[in-house]
This record gives sequence, structure tokens and C-alpha cells, in this order.
Amino acid sequence: MKKIPKVYCASIATETNTFSPLKTNMKSFKETFFAKPNYHPKTPTLCSALFPLLRKRKSNGEIKLIEGTATWAEPGGLIDSKTWNDLKKLILKEIKNAGKLDIVLLGLHGAMIAKNCVDCEGDLVKNIRKIVGPNVVIGATFDPHSHLSKKFITNTNILTVFKEFPHTDFVETAKNCINLSLKTFNKKIKPRISLFDVKMMTILPTSKEPMRSFVDKIKNLEKDKSILSISIIHGFMAGNSPDLGAKVLVITDNDTNYGNNLSFELGMKLFKLRKKLGPKTYSVNKSLIKAKNLFKNNKKPVLIADIWDNPGGGVAGDSTVLIKKALSMKLKNIALGTIWDPEAVRLCHEAGEKAIINLSFGGKISPTEKPIKKNVLVKKIVKNTFQKFGKSLVPMGDCACITFNNIEIVLNSNRCQTFSTDVFEKLGIEIANKNILIVKSTNHFYNSFHPHVSNIVYASVNGIYPNNPKKNKYTKLKRKIWPIFSDPHGLVNKNENKKR
Ligand SMILES: [Zn+2]
Repeated sequence: MKKIPKVYCASIATETNTFSPLKTNMKSFKETFFAKPNYHPKTPTLCSALFPLLRKRKSNGEIKLIEGTATWAEPGGLIDSKTWNDLKKLILKEIKNAGKLDIVLLGLHGAMIAKNCVDCEGDLVKNIRKIVGPNVVIGATFDPHSHLSKKFITNTNILTVFKEFPHTDFVETAKNCINLSLKTFNKKIKPRISLFDVKMMTILPTSKEPMRSFVDKIKNLEKDKSILSISIIHGFMAGNSPDLGAKVLVITDNDTNYGNNLSFELGMKLFKLRKKLGPKTYSVNKSLIKAKNLFKNNKKPVLIADIWDNPGGGVAGDSTVLIKKALSMKLKNIALGTIWDPEAVRLCHEAGEKAIINLSFGGKISPTEKPIKKNVLVKKIVKNTFQKFGKSLVPMGDCACITFNNIEIVLNSNRCQTFSTDVFEKLGIEIANKNILIVKSTNHFYNSFHPHVSNIVYASVNGIYPNNPKKNKYTKLKRKIWPIFSDPHGLVNKNENKKR
């Protein structure tokens, strides 16, 4: 009779911006998302989609399931040592208490760094392997904005990574991880991981070319039976990690040679595209002028993405640079969502809707900025609201819409990036009537906003986000990567040798 595997699952995730002034501690995890064993909600979160999917498998009688803790902290600064030790101990204790296991599945992010641990995911999985031994299948899911280490790969059987940026495929990624882990347990496949270091750090939105075609191509390649999974690690430039940068991961069915060749081939293709991968960005001034001019010829609003003041990258999301400039240019009919300012939200809630108050908001975290002080109308207040991101719900906390000089701004109390038009709509802002929309997000906004806007302008506002790998102080990085080094693969010399 077929043995029903005993599966343990947990999710522990955040994305650490080691350059951020914000600190990440246990409170940050508990405030953002913390589900004790068996208390995971029915809806998946970005890194914990394994839970609802495994429950289905359990109810089908396919597995026995032991649910562990699932937690996620909004990206921020370095995790303190005690918090990391406590989280790790918690997971390891749950695994020890689970008894003999067949499969361990982990919903991770891959860019978690603590004061006492530069590779939290590698450290976690190494310790899990020590407990469960070599024969238990360990599967995990990652966000592509991660630093994949050799330590992690050595101790894991299966790793699947969101292919899309925006990460609209997080449920599919978890599904693939479960399928491959079960097949490994049932001895239907022998997964072998090949990893190629692309040696580059840039941003790789899949909503545009050339990354769109690249992802479609790897999806096609996965139809080949000997290829179990292909993933691209994009890297996360705000993390001071020795493993910083892009990587290509190919999992084959017991064909390491094929996997090595394919990961090399795909990795070098990606490297050759390096200068075309990121979106074209504009300065503060130019992005506003461009948006103003583009709107003249269109009926739909123009969207400006403030790509670096993105709480999803571990910064505050309270920059007022674009709005201050728009005010000085006397631009009208703009809506911005959101500025993170819990204190200002509280004052708006106390004053109530229709009140006119003197408010100081935004610009409170970055040392280079100052808040805006204005007489504002509190247009709408909402308690404990959410925005959708795919099948997941992202808490925005108490929010307020304030208006002044024909500009509407959404203030939120739970720090989060702009994922969807909910940010505006839940606060009573009709986006179709606006000239310019400003959001704080690198690319996760794309799918929700794209149908409602005529153009997207990517604004590169210099602030506290370490947006230039050439200038960032990566003290842990010992490998050569582009753009810090122009030719990390030594191609120029190789080509010269060929010519001779
Ligand atoms: Zn990501």
C-alpha cells in the first residue's frame, strides 16, 4: 500500500534592507503577520501559499499535515539577534516535536538578514537538515529578490521561486514546490539542482521586455520532462550579503550535466541582456513634466511610480519629494497612495471626516527630508482596511484621505507598498478622474493599475534606498558582479583570445 507522507510546513519571511534606518524585531513580525500553528488564514500570503494548498492535499487524503508557524514582517532593516534566534528556535522546536517526518516544506523569502546571521535561510535549513537527517525531503519557495547561498542549496531538495515580477504567480510556485516534493518522496523523480551565478545586480520586471520573453521561454523549457523546474533569482540590492546578485537555478530529473549546461546558457543570455532589463527611469522634475505632457494627449491618468521609496524594499514609504515638486510646479488633480504616517492618520481619525486641520505629514523617517505642513481637509477616514494582491490581502491599517491644493493623498498606518487600485478606491478616490497618480512601488502595482492608466513613468528619486549597487557599501560581497565590475565573467579577455 502507498505510504501517506507526513508533512510539516512553516513560513518565516521578510526582506532585509541592511541599509534601512528601520529595525526589524519580533514586534515587526507580530504586527505584520503571525499565525501560530493551525491558525493560518484561509487566504494565502505571498510567502505562505503552501498552507492552504497543503490543507487541500490533506483533505484529499494525500498527506498527513503538521502545520507550524507562519510569519512575515514588512520589509525593513536588520533583524536583531534575539529575534532571529527566537524565530529559528521556534521552527526547530516544532520540527522536533513533530516526530518522524517525511517532508518539510518552507515558505521563505530568501533575503532575511539578522545582526548575528547573514544567511538566515541557509542557517535555518542547515539546522533542519541536522534534525531530520539526509532522507527527509526538504522543499522551499523563495521570492526572486533574494540571496541564494550554497549552504541553502546543499541542504534542500526542491526550491521553486516566483517567476513573475509583479509576483502574481506565488500560488503556482507553492503548488510546484508541493508537487515536486511529493514526487521526490514517492521516488518518481530524483531532483538535482544546478546553480549558475549570473554575477549581476539589477531590477528585472517581467511586465516588460526583454524579461517577459525570457520568462515565457523558461516556462516553455519546463515542458521538457527531464527539466523539473527553472527559476531566476533576481537578487536584492539593498542587502549586504556575500551572495548578492542574480542566479539561474535549474532542477533536472537526475541529469546534473544537462542542468549545468542549461543554467550556464540561460545565465549568460540573461547577463547579455543586463543593460536592457530595468525600466527607463526619470528624475523627479522630468518625471512630473513627462506625466503632465503625456496626460494632455490622453483621457486616462498617467501613473508615476516612485520606485525606490517602496516599503516593499524595506524603506519607510513616507517620502514627500514628488508631491513637494508637484506643488511647486502648480500641478493639479493628482492622487498619491500612500504615505506611511500612523501619527497623522490618528490625528485625522480624531478630527473626523470634513474637518479642516493643520497637519504635518510624511518625510519623518529619512534624515534628508522634512514633513509637509498644510491645512488639509480630511475627506475620508477608514478603519483597518486591506488591499488585494492576487489572492492575498495586504493590511493597510487605519487610513485617511486628505486633500489640499487639488491634490489627494492617502495616509496609511500599516506600512506597505501600493499593490492595487484598492489603495485609492477604498479611500473614495476615483482614479479615472485624476490627471496623475503617484504610487510607491517598484513594479507590484503593475497588473492592477495597467488597465486604468495611459502611461507609466518610473521615477528614480534619490533618497534613503540604496539604489545604486556601484555606490552601496557591500562589505560582505567578495565576488565580482556587474555593474560594480564591468566584466565579471572575464568575457573581454576570452573574446580577445578567440580573435588571436
Ligand atoms: Zn520580490
